[in-house]
Amino acid sequence: MLEGKSALVTGASRGIGRSIALELARQGANVAVNFAGNEAKAQSVVEEIEQLGVKSIKIQADVANADDVKAMIKEVTGTFGSLDILVNNAGITRDNLLMRMKEDEFDQVINTNLKGVFQCTKAVSRQMMKQKSGRIINVASIVGVSGNPGQANYVAAKAGVIGLTKSTAKEFASRNILVNAVAPGFISTDMTDALTEEQKESMLGMIPLGKLGQPEDVAKVVRFLASEDSNYMTGQTLHIDGGMVM
Ligand code: NAD
Repeated sequence: MLEGKSALVTGASRGIGRSIALELARQGANVAVNFAGNEAKAQSVVEEIEQLGVKSIKIQADVANADDVKAMIKEVTGTFGSLDILVNNAGITRDNLLMRMKEDEFDQVINTNLKGVFQCTKAVSRQMMKQKSGRIINVASIVGVSGNPGQANYVAAKAGVIGLTKSTAKEFASRNILVNAVAPGFISTDMTDALTEEQKESMLGMIPLGKLGQPEDVAKVVRFLASEDSNYMTGQTLHIDGGMVM
């Protein structure tokens, strides 16, 4: 499905990003694995990808840092010769009630989750414009649509990602660069493992399908958005939430 394509997945050393990187590789793409801190985990994803018979590299970069991001894109295009698929997946949470939220907690989340998408999108845009093709897939969140108490910073960032997706889709459409987003609901990863049992129970009660999603559930939709099967879609946000928000 993606043979001969090359992809970059941010925050790909674990969780949803890891699963997306492996799924794109399974479809034949060469995949660059971006990571922030845990090099050993990123290396093990690279090795899993190589076992699938495609190329992979790991690149340490803070997605919110313009210089890091520029160097990362240069390394990907230098190694693979093109960059066809960018998946903006890196994200963090710093949950707190708004009244107690520190400015730094707000800034950190906006910087990584929203500005990071801007930096990576801007940095790949020249390459994709030259290629006259590309796919950008942003990992938003269902709470960016519904809102969520205790997550004003995260929700604002993810709502921003949905807006950025639409705007970029319109700006890039004439160059055949398609920009879409996925909005996962409650997916079982390190991010959600941090929730208390009480919070998990209450989330489960809100999911019509009655179960948590798995990283692979997100990866398969990203694979669709990266493939030719979604050639006539841009600016969309697909909900992967077990029916939580409809
Ligand atoms: P995770 O914490 O397991 O993974 C996030 C990854 O992003 C980590 O590898 C981390 O090192 C990386 N990262 C963080 N800051 C970074 C930075 N500045 N530069 C580069 N990499 C950085 O979480 P996850 O659940 O796999 O989340 C992946 C994405 O999915 C995030 O954008 C998250 O907001 C989104 N999401 C997750 C859920 C869920 O239920 N797990 C739901 C909706 C959306």
